[in-house]
Amino acid sequence: MRATPDGLIAPVPGRSGRPTRMVDSLAEFLRRSEHLLVLTGAGISTESGIPDFRSPGGVWTRYDPRQMTFDRYVESAEVRALSWAMRREFFAAGARPNAGHLAIAAMEAAGRSVGVITQNIDGLHQEAGSRTVVEIHGTARTVTCIGRRPRWGMPDGCGFREDTTWAFARIDAGDPDPACPECGGLVKSATISFGQAMDTTSMDAAAQLMDVADAMLVVGSSLQVHPVAGMPVDAVERGLPLAIVNREPTPLDDLADVVVHGSAGEVLG
Ligand SMILES: [Zn+2]
Repeated sequence: MRATPDGLIAPVPGRSGRPTRMVDSLAEFLRRSEHLLVLTGAGISTESGIPDFRSPGGVWTRYDPRQMTFDRYVESAEVRALSWAMRREFFAAGARPNAGHLAIAAMEAAGRSVGVITQNIDGLHQEAGSRTVVEIHGTARTVTCIGRRPRWGMPDGCGFREDTTWAFARIDAGDPDPACPECGGLVKSATISFGQAMDTTSMDAAAQLMDVADAMLVVGSSLQVHPVAGMPVDAVERGLPLAIVNREPTPLDDLADVVVHGSAGEVLG
């Protein structure tokens, strides 16, 4: 850390050539926040063995995303079977929370108000102990009824929800395309698929967290996928200080007060 006479932390050049500041200034940033909003992306879960879907070996390099849209899921039993196989592979990896998840949960356990908005569907923040988690892309841990023939990317289910293990048990019992036991509708992972409308409840919850936050920390997001990519911009426009922890530079690094290029586990753990 190189402190300047006015107490600010001098930028040091990072590998990217952009201004990168030291972990010490991140610690100071975190100390000043009483209502911290943490925005996390795939990067925080890669250390738990969950590949980023855009990275080599990621699920979308082996499954064609054009085949996995919401509409295709509704139309095709074959796509649904592929989707369940993919989901089973996801759980077979046995991912556990890593130092990054645990560090965020520890901030909350220490008495600070910490809200988490995540792009991840793995449930690892909750498993680490975080209590206020908004999963804007849904969760892979639950399945939900989407109705018999939903249109326009809008689920139209009866409200049935179960653990994802329910679907696996049905499939193992010889039913490759388990239907809703309440209404006979299609059952789908409670994630937001390509071509599926965002869940307004989670977007409202994310907006509420933004309203009470006094600082935003972005962890492990490349900030290239909306609506998450717009949230740090919104935070800065509201006058909130912004810190970004990510392995690679993001398009919003120049907006941030503190940028640390590194893995979530190493930087926060
Ligand atoms: Zn139903």
